[in-house]
Amino acid sequence: MSKTVFFNGKIYTPRGTAEALLAEGQTIAAVGRNREVLERAEGAERIDLGGRLMLPGFIDGHMHFLAYALSLEQADLTGCRSVPEVRDRLKSFLDREKPVSGEWVSGRGWNHEHFGEPRIFTRDDLDDLVPSNPVILSRVCGHVAVLNSKALEILGITGDSRFPGGVVDLDGAGHPTGVIRETAVEWVHSRKPLPDREKLRRLVARAGTAAAAAGLTSIHSDDLGSVGGDFETILGLYLGLDAEGKMPVRITEQLLLRNRKALDRFLASGWRTGDGSPAFHIGPLKILTDGSMGGRTAFLREEYSDMPGVYGVPIYGAEELNDLVWTAHSAGMQVALHAIGDGALDMCLDALEKARERNLRKARHYIVHCQMGDMDQYHRMARLGVGAAIQPPFVPSDRPMALRRIGEDRARRGYAWKTLLDLGIFLSGGSDCPVETFDPLWGIYTAVTRKDRDGVPEGGWNPAQKLTVEEAVDLYTRGGAYASFEEHKKGTLQAGRLADLAVLDRDIFSVPLEEIPAGKAVLTMMGGKITFRDF
Ligand SMILES: [Zn+2]
Repeated sequence: MSKTVFFNGKIYTPRGTAEALLAEGQTIAAVGRNREVLERAEGAERIDLGGRLMLPGFIDGHMHFLAYALSLEQADLTGCRSVPEVRDRLKSFLDREKPVSGEWVSGRGWNHEHFGEPRIFTRDDLDDLVPSNPVILSRVCGHVAVLNSKALEILGITGDSRFPGGVVDLDGAGHPTGVIRETAVEWVHSRKPLPDREKLRRLVARAGTAAAAAGLTSIHSDDLGSVGGDFETILGLYLGLDAEGKMPVRITEQLLLRNRKALDRFLASGWRTGDGSPAFHIGPLKILTDGSMGGRTAFLREEYSDMPGVYGVPIYGAEELNDLVWTAHSAGMQVALHAIGDGALDMCLDALEKARERNLRKARHYIVHCQMGDMDQYHRMARLGVGAAIQPPFVPSDRPMALRRIGEDRARRGYAWKTLLDLGIFLSGGSDCPVETFDPLWGIYTAVTRKDRDGVPEGGWNPAQKLTVEEAVDLYTRGGAYASFEEHKKGTLQAGRLADLAVLDRDIFSVPLEEIPAGKAVLTMMGGKITFRDF
C-alpha cells in the first residue's frame, strides 16, 4: 500500500490546524502533530511542506467538464472587444488548426456586451472567412450562438424552423441571420458529430491535468449537452477511464435529461444517484428551467428593467416540470434545477414542495445558480431543505449586466450568498466553467470580496453578502461533498476520509485578500495519488 506523509505544514482540519498528515492507500490514516504522525509513517514517502497551507481537495459544485475539455480545441473568443476581433481570432484559429473541408469549426466565449457597439454578429460576418465549413460560435453563456450559412444549410435550418423553448433570429426578409438561442443551440450541438472516443479521452486527460493544477479533486459536471445528450456515452467514457485508473479528477455527473422520455429511459437502466465507481458517480437529474439573464431568457417574476413587457422564457410549463421532478424524486434520484430568474425559482420550489408533500425523504435537491430571489423564496428553500450550487465569480462578471437587466433593487436581493448561508441553506461553490475559470481561489476571492480583478467596485458589490475566507473555503470543500451525500468521505481532512487534498503556495487565511487570486496549488493528491506537484 502506498504511503505518503506530509509534515511541517499548516493543515486545515475541522479541529484547528495540524502539522502532519499520513495518507495510506486511498485514505487519510492520521492527522496531528509532526512527532505522532511521523512515528506511524515508516516506509512512507516524506514531503516537507515547509510551513505551507494544506486544504481538503477543492470541489467544484457545478461546471461542464467535457465542454471545457472540448473547448481546448475550439477558437477561444473570450475577451473579444469587437466583431473584427472575433474574426481575427477565428482566422488565426483556422490558420493553426487547418480543418478539412466540411469539418465543423467551433468557437466560444464572445460577449457582445463587451463590444464597442453591443450588437450580436450574424452569418454575414462569417461567410467570407469560412465558406465551406460549418461554423458555430457560442456566446460566453452558452445559451446563444451564431452559425454561418454552411451550418444553416447542413442542418436544414430555415425561416420556417421552429424550436419549442428556442429561437432562430430572422432578418427583415424572414431568413435566419445565423443567431440562434436556447434549445435551438442545444439542438445544433446534438447534431454535430462527436469527437471519437480516443480524442475524447485525450481531451479529458488534458482537462484533468489543468483541474488538478488548480487543486481540484472533485467536480460536479453537467456533460450530456456536450456529447449529444446520450447518457451511455458519458458512463462509458468515465467508467472506462476509472476502470483503468485514469480518472484525473472525481466526477459527479449532473445528468441533463430534457424530457420525460429521456428520464424514463435513464431510470429503466437502473442507475440512480450515488451509483458508480470510485472516481465517477451518478449525481442528480439536472433540469434546465430557464435561460440566462444576459440573453433575457432567465424567467422573472416581474418584467426586465431594460425591456418592458419581457419576462424571459420558462423552459417547461408547471405541469411538465412538476412531473419531471416527481418522477425523479419518487424514483430515488436527487434533482438539481438550473434557475436564474426569480420566476423560474418559484416554479422549481413549487415542484419540489409538491414532490416532498407526496414523499418526504432525504433528497438534498438543489438549485443551480440561484442568482435572483427574494426573502420569501429563501425562507421557503430553507424550510424545504433545498440547497444551492452557487457561482461566486458571477458576482463581478454579472454586475454591470445585472444592474441593467433587473435594476438596483432586485440585484441587491440576488447573489445573496450570505443570506442563504445564514438561513442554513446548504451551498456548494462552483465556476460553471467554461463560463468562468474553474480556479477555486478566484471563486474564493470573489465570494469574500465581491470585486472584480481590478478591485471594482470599491468595498465590493452588496458587501452585506460577503463571506469570510473560512465560509468560502467551505463552499469549495465540505459544501461540494455534502451536495453529493459524501460529507463522510471527503471535504475535510480527518483520519478515515479520502486522501483528497491540495497544498497552496500561500496561506489564504492570513495574506491580504487581494493576494488570494494570484495563489496557486503546488501539490494536489486524489485518493492518495499525487495528481499535480510543483514544488
Ligand atoms: Zn452550467
